[in-house]
Amino acid sequence: MSDRAAVAEAEQAVAEASGEGNDGDGPRFTLELNQDQQDIRDWVHGFAEGVVRPAAEEWDEREETPWPIIQEAAKIGLYSFEALGQFWADETGLMLPIANEELFWGDGGIGMAIMGTSLAVAAIFGQGTPEQMGEWIPQCFGTADDPKVAAFCSSEPEAGSDVAAIRATAKYDEAKDEWVLNGQKAWATNGGIADVHVVIASVDRELRSRGHAAFVIPPGTNGCEQGAKVKKHGLRASHTADVHLDDCRVPGACLLGGKEKLDERLARVREGKRSKSQAAMQTFEASRPTVGAQAIGIARAAYEYALSYAKEREQFGRPIIENQAIAFALADMKLEIDAARLLVWRAGWMGRSGQKFENAEGSMSKLKAGEVAVWATERAIQILGGNGYTREYPVERMHRDAKIYTIFEGTSEIQRLVISRAISGLQIK
Ligand SMILES: Cc1cc2nc3c(=O)[nH]c(=O)nc-3n(C[C@H](O)[C@H](O)[C@H](O)COP(=O)(O)OP(=O)(O)OC[C@H]3O[C@@H](n4cnc5c(N)ncnc54)[C@H](O)[C@@H]3O)c2cc1C
Repeated sequence: MSDRAAVAEAEQAVAEASGEGNDGDGPRFTLELNQDQQDIRDWVHGFAEGVVRPAAEEWDEREETPWPIIQEAAKIGLYSFEALGQFWADETGLMLPIANEELFWGDGGIGMAIMGTSLAVAAIFGQGTPEQMGEWIPQCFGTADDPKVAAFCSSEPEAGSDVAAIRATAKYDEAKDEWVLNGQKAWATNGGIADVHVVIASVDRELRSRGHAAFVIPPGTNGCEQGAKVKKHGLRASHTADVHLDDCRVPGACLLGGKEKLDERLARVREGKRSKSQAAMQTFEASRPTVGAQAIGIARAAYEYALSYAKEREQFGRPIIENQAIAFALADMKLEIDAARLLVWRAGWMGRSGQKFENAEGSMSKLKAGEVAVWATERAIQILGGNGYTREYPVERMHRDAKIYTIFEGTSEIQRLVISRAISGLQIK
């Protein structure tokens, strides 16, 4: 047999062993992106490169919601429930992380201004009835000519990591079939500027988190007001504010999932049976790999910037990358970013294909990605030296933006708590 024939035979054997051309039932394992995924990645990347990144510094300095950029995203269909639905529908679960990574590669703050709405959408999608989804999800986005944003309000001044400590209350007024909400929400992304607010409130304080429910506050509802706008370290193009609920009345139909389902759940809990869902935790769990992907986008942007800077910048008569200290730092950055992405993709795939998160793989992905983003952006500053520390160069902004990823959507400590409880089966404190 000639060498060429032997190689062809070996290739054929490998292809057969790997299931190539195999029409079997389950999808075979591959990390190769399909054409749709590549197209979406390139499309979002084009927007991130052409529109988001050039605007990043301006909106970080202005500390305002970049409405013109949101509108541009809406005009091309990127900011829309159709796009989010298309990303989510991808049966591999990778499209949502891929799109988020590319957008946040453009800029974290603007990325969050565009994607912040999706947290409220995820809550409606996860807990709403089909009618509620049809009514409220489109309203979260508005239209291409008049885009709107949505807010998800769970945290409170005294209830951050300890979601069970939520004090906001929802009381049912049977005569009017209305819910009356009272309380103060803290750090809400898009809080007060949103058209649609999704609020987590307690219907029975004694049941702690098992007595929580999620409510839609329709646009223009009296008694739902923005409190103080928060001045932040990073993600400054994304609006964050307190939200005050003061005898805020919403129709009975605004309880996500409906009253019958809530009553059944509360009855089960009061009988001492386990409740199937905890409103806020359910929303967080579903969104963790996506949040991790955002952190990876920021980390990758800083890594790429530092890599090209290190090739250009000369000291001691040679580019600084020719020193192992710099080259190894870049090698480690690339390694850690890729490792984090694999965890994110695994969790994205597990979530979409209905796998059980036996070891809290969703939390693992967010934990790793957040920590890598903080670490890699700090390394990028170090590689740029004095320039890295100035606002003339983008890596200090990326570092400020990255830091939130060890804090929101569950701090790193809380992710470790979730993972350690999952692997041990014990109530680690
Ligand atoms: C920019 C930004 C945007 C946000 N957007 C939203 C939003 O849209 N909607 C929303 O509802 N919330 C939002 N948040 C709130 C965010 O989710 C909370 O800040 C976060 O959950 C942490 O809560 P906390 O700030 O009260 O910290 P705390 O819970 O007070 O934690 C403080 C420290 O103690 C540690 N800690 C707490 N408990 C434990 C424990 N049991 N074991 C070990 N360590 C522990 C924490 O890890 C942390 O290091 C946002 C916050 C920011 C800053």
